Amino acid sequence: MEPIRQLHDNFQSQSKLIIFCDGKILYDHDQKTYCFDPKDLNSLESYSPFLSIAKDTLVDQYYYSIEVERNSDIFGIFMDPAKIEFTDFRTTLSFLDSSNFQLISRASILMNWRATNKFCSSCGKQTIFNPKEGAPDCECLAHPKYPVISPCIITHYYPNS
Ligand SMILES: [Zn+2]
Repeated sequence: MEPIRQLHDNFQSQSKLIIFCDGKILYDHDQKTYCFDPKDLNSLESYSPFLSIAKDTLVDQYYYSIEVERNSDIFGIFMDPAKIEFTDFRTTLSFLDSSNFQLISRASILMNWRATNKFCSSCGKQTIFNPKEGAPDCECLAHPKYPVISPCIITHYYPNS
């Protein structure tokens, strides 16, 4: 899986969507997946351009991260609301294997990064996505707004051992 940051006006021919809404993530209990095919969903055209966060180069498949509005009618005709629902994102993370954990975490981080950098923090103008930098940029001299890396270390101290 190759990490990427690209904006696409349309989904590529092979695409998977990771869909968030109000801090929750869409999950299919039957298929046990967080990744959805755009063909199964109602039109998401109003959310274009779409942020692609990763590419599986082996099968030429792109992964997208999308935040949909509350009460939006995204379920396609064959999607069963009894089996597919938005679930708590933080709880979800603890059940994922390592590769899915990385993918879903990346989707969440980049979706928030995109949402919080729509406007330039220096001059206030609307940013424009710079494809060479893979980041929102502004016509003023401010630097492009790259995703922020926030490393942390968690330790546990055992007395007498
Ligand atoms: Zn600016």
